[in-house]
Amino acid sequence: MEIKQDPERFNGPQKPTWCPGCGNYGLFSALKKALAGLGLRPDKIMFFFGIGCSGNMCCFLRGAGFHSLHGRGIPVAIGAKICNPTSPAIVVAGDGDVYGEGMNHLLAAARGNHDIKVIVHNNMVYGLTTGQASPTSEKGFLSKSTPAGVIEYPVNPLSLVLSSGGTFVARGFTSEVDHLAEIFEKAIKHVGFSLVDVLQPCVTFNKINTAEFYKSHVYKLQKQEQDFKGALEKASEWPQTHENADRGRIPIGIFWQKRQKAYHENLPQLKDSFLNSQSIEKIKIENVYPLYT
Ligand code: SF4
Repeated sequence: MEIKQDPERFNGPQKPTWCPGCGNYGLFSALKKALAGLGLRPDKIMFFFGIGCSGNMCCFLRGAGFHSLHGRGIPVAIGAKICNPTSPAIVVAGDGDVYGEGMNHLLAAARGNHDIKVIVHNNMVYGLTTGQASPTSEKGFLSKSTPAGVIEYPVNPLSLVLSSGGTFVARGFTSEVDHLAEIFEKAIKHVGFSLVDVLQPCVTFNKINTAEFYKSHVYKLQKQEQDFKGALEKASEWPQTHENADRGRIPIGIFWQKRQKAYHENLPQLKDSFLNSQSIEKIKIENVYPLYT
């Protein structure tokens, strides 16, 4: 990947305070590398964060940041993107945040093909609140909230987003920083909804899904699936969500990418100019509600 500027340009005013060994560091490095590779200016990028250890990146990353409520980074990003489609809108959040409290927003954003990029720190546990099971925790996972083990099977975010209409679906791993940076770069360049699920260890509260576990299980996809069915099958390889599951190989890479009109490209009121450059007088009611005037 060609680096057009110093990734450290994207460092914010505060240094990261995550636990030593946390996967957040790898994701942070990969994201800065991708932004630098794309030649983006920090003040021209909109970031949206949820609640969690990942959300603390709001203070560590330089850009126009918004620290939202739990699970609500996605709807805020959708609103900002419709107002200002020229700036990338990147949501950075955790598995508890996006696949728990924010799951309905995730599926709605995929269904609308909103041009936002959702990057999920998936460590399969709520870290900031000190170690409760999340929707991606494995069946049987012991935690403060599940002392007898998780009863349910984990959700599969990739297949959920694929079947909801997401047009860019990928998975990365925080120990593969260059590979992850390339995925981020493509996800940000994609026009439409992008999900990048990022496998990462929480060294403090998840002793099962460790960096060593992933290193011995992940493999890189050699090519992108050409048809939807193939992408869905590949996305279903892991996690196993049925009885007699094993902890088999875990594919990482881009599972699916398809260009189709993003939500804001279908809005008649944005046909001539974007909302952030229109005066209130110019936003005529007949443009907004053409069927009712
Ligand atoms: Fe990272 Fe877990 Fe520590 Fe949070 S609690 S900073 S996710 S290692």
